[in-house]
Amino acid sequence: MMSPEELKQLIRTIPDFPSAGIQFRDITTLIGHRAGFAASVRHIADRARSIGAQSIAGMEARGFIFGAAVAAKLDLGFVPVRKPGKLPMEVIGIDYALEYGTDRLEMDPGAVSAGENVVIVDDLIATGGTALAAAELLRQAGAKVDHALFVIDLPDLGGAQKLREAGVDVRTLMEFEGD
Ligand code: AMP
Repeated sequence: MMSPEELKQLIRTIPDFPSAGIQFRDITTLIGHRAGFAASVRHIADRARSIGAQSIAGMEARGFIFGAAVAAKLDLGFVPVRKPGKLPMEVIGIDYALEYGTDRLEMDPGAVSAGENVVIVDDLIATGGTALAAAELLRQAGAKVDHALFVIDLPDLGGAQKLREAGVDVRTLMEFEGD
C-alpha cells in the first residue's frame, strides 16, 4: 500500500487559485490514480475503524469522495452534510463565517441516532471553519463527534488546533506549509 509520503507526491499544487496568494492543493491527481486513491481511502478507513466509527459524515463536495468510499469500505452508512437548499426533507442548518461573508451547511436531522459515534471525513482542513460547523451540526442532531479525519492539513491556518479545542481529535495523512 502506498505510504502517506508517496500519496503526497500525487497532490497537484496550483498557485493563485481561486485567488492570488492561495496555493490550491488539488486532489484530482490523487483520486485519478488507482493505487493512490485506494491507499488514501484505506489509511483513513483503518483509522476510522480503530476509533470505533459507527457512521461516516462528509461535507459537500470533496468530502463525499473520500467519506463515502471510507464508509463503504467499513460497511457503515454515510451522512451527507450539504450545501444549502439541496436536501428535500425538513433540515437543520448552521451558518458559519468565511474570510469574506458566510456560508451554510444543512443535514437531515434523522440521519444520525442519539449518541452515535460519527466520524467526519474531508479532503482538506484549512481554517477549520467548515469542519467545526459540521461537527456542531452533527452534535445538534444528537451524534457524538470526537474525531475528524482529513487527507491534507494546512497547519499554518490553525484549523486542526481549532477543532481540538472543540473536543474533536484531528488526524491527517499529510501536511503542506503555508496557505
Ligand atoms: P476551511 O473551512 O477553511 O477548513 O476550508 C474548507 C474547504 O475549503 C476544504 O475542505 C477544502 O475543500 C477547501 N480549501 C481550503 N483551502 C484550500 C487549499 N489551499 N487547497 C484546496 N482546497 C482548499
